[in-house]
Amino acid sequence: MGIAWLASRDNEAKGQPAKLPGPRPSPQPPQPSPPSTQGLRGPPGEPMEPVIIQRHGGGGTGPQGTRRPGDLRGATVHFAAGTQGGELENVLYELKKAGLDYNAAVPRSGKIVELMPPSAIAPHAHVAKGAGHSVAGSNNRHTLGLAFLNTGWSPRERPGWIPGPPPPQNVLERALANRVISSTDIDQVWWEPYTVPQLEGAARYLAKVFFEAHVLQPEIWGHGELAGWKADPGPAFPMVRFKRRVQELIEARKLAARKTA
Ligand SMILES: [Zn+2]
Repeated sequence: MGIAWLASRDNEAKGQPAKLPGPRPSPQPPQPSPPSTQGLRGPPGEPMEPVIIQRHGGGGTGPQGTRRPGDLRGATVHFAAGTQGGELENVLYELKKAGLDYNAAVPRSGKIVELMPPSAIAPHAHVAKGAGHSVAGSNNRHTLGLAFLNTGWSPRERPGWIPGPPPPQNVLERALANRVISSTDIDQVWWEPYTVPQLEGAARYLAKVFFEAHVLQPEIWGHGELAGWKADPGPAFPMVRFKRRVQELIEARKLAARKTA
């Protein structure tokens, strides 16, 4: 499936609709594709509500303030690996230690764990590095912090993982210090794929939050775009398709609201 996501991104870059590989040639009549190959778009008529588990106050360090009306402009996408392979409880434990938090975590199941309400400012993205610590910027006031449970990258090939460029040099240097790699001179690593339910669940959640907050054309950033020393969400994250899916779901909500008005 990892390769399929790559192929989709390639098509996207050429301005063509993303296509997933069809069934293998077989003497039998074609079978419907399993759900895992249907990409971000669910079957027609499928409800577009996200599954949200509220766990307010049960996350990391807690909110750093409350947004004023009009503050919210979009979302920043992260991966959160923790130290034990991107498992929720371990990620929350590590967040608390690091003085960080997110508005919501997105497990691989796609069920959203909302750690604080969208109106709360989560300390998730930092824009400058001081002596041994990061300094929060205005980004947190204007964007929701969304943490996908995903372990990021590995120097070794793993089944289903996506080959891609290495993370930034400082990330490699830390990996070298931790003996994850034996040299920073590498030109390829493997990135954990995001699951389809994870991407679809997050898109539905953001569409709901933004529609309800009247943010009808949200900006969506990858953490690494805002902070060049960060690797997340990495090249395995299908950013173009994800942004398009969020916008599509907002348009669907607008249409539904007009019909019932
Ligand atoms: Zn991040």
